[in-house]
Amino acid sequence: MTDPEYTDMYAQSKSDTQYRKLTSDYVSTLEVDGKTILKVEPEGLRMLTAEAMKDIAHLLRTTHLEKLAKILKDDEASDNDRFVATELLKNANIASGMILPGCQDTGTGIIMGKKGQFVWTDGDDAEALNQGMIDTYTKTNLRYSQLAPQGLFEEKNTKTNGPAQVDVYATEGDEYHFLFVSKGGGSANKTFLFQETPAILREDKLTEFLDEKLKLLGTSACPPYHLAIVVGGLSAEQNLKTVKMASTHYLDNLPTVGGDYGQAIRCPEMEDKVLEMTRNFGIGAQFGGKYFCHDVRVVRLPRHGASVPIGFGVSCSADRQAKAKITKDGIFLEQLERDPARFMPDVSEDNLSNDVVKIDLNRPMSEVCKDLSQ
Ligand code: SF4
Repeated sequence: MTDPEYTDMYAQSKSDTQYRKLTSDYVSTLEVDGKTILKVEPEGLRMLTAEAMKDIAHLLRTTHLEKLAKILKDDEASDNDRFVATELLKNANIASGMILPGCQDTGTGIIMGKKGQFVWTDGDDAEALNQGMIDTYTKTNLRYSQLAPQGLFEEKNTKTNGPAQVDVYATEGDEYHFLFVSKGGGSANKTFLFQETPAILREDKLTEFLDEKLKLLGTSACPPYHLAIVVGGLSAEQNLKTVKMASTHYLDNLPTVGGDYGQAIRCPEMEDKVLEMTRNFGIGAQFGGKYFCHDVRVVRLPRHGASVPIGFGVSCSADRQAKAKITKDGIFLEQLERDPARFMPDVSEDNLSNDVVKIDLNRPMSEVCKDLSQ
């Protein structure tokens, strides 16, 4: 028997990511046995991580902001949807000043690396990546959320936001690729796994299941959500790992048609159906309406014949993630939106109320407060 051709289960045909170059420092090349090796200094990993964690704490993707702005123009959006979208846009503008973070829960640092076999680093990559995250949290205005166990029931704050969750995978090539995520507790808590049977693999059954279970997401993870649903997986943990990646739109360029090997595929028709379903839940962007979700990703994975793990989770309104790469040309980080003000609605004089409360700031504060409460 000939060996089947190996295929990366998550192989994607292209990448739409726009990067900004951070530096040409910390990288060099050397020749070994006729191969070009990319050498990366640990300080480069540390600097990249610090920059990535800072960016994602303060900036959003342009596509995310476009979706918020779209809510304001949708006649079907409820007043509540529009109120939430407006507040989130205002919040994005404040955070883009790079002083105050986009959310008070500044999250757990989660770093995934894919390291080509011709990339050479000196030391423990996880240490440099972890330290980069700590640099940002200890030098900026980000809250420390991580608790170190002292015993089964006793804990104490690590006071650095460390440790980060670092997962580095070996792959082919001479580049080092990354996904940086900062996951808030409320968002992480809304991750679900169900061990179903093959009987659920019918459109009507799966739709009925999702219609019931997706409501468990509720609003405590701050919708509108980027919702990810994964059906299948060679293990429970692979299913949920894929949920995490899909919720960050890391798997957007998966194929939509399966192959013989068992590649992951996206299911766009089901994505549209589920998005429509969530619009009819009536939950909306927190207080009733249409915008429970910005978008939906449905990914199908290979599975054992007796198991159908189904997982789902969300990227919340903080939507903190960025891709990065290190190549022989330097260190690059995903370009996030630095001018969210362009997504704010235009305000004309017609929008201003004629009911103006005049405040004399020379009067005692108790009287000023009384005037303001009129
Ligand atoms: S769910 Fe997201 S937006 Fe809401 S508090 Fe947590 S991190 Fe912040």
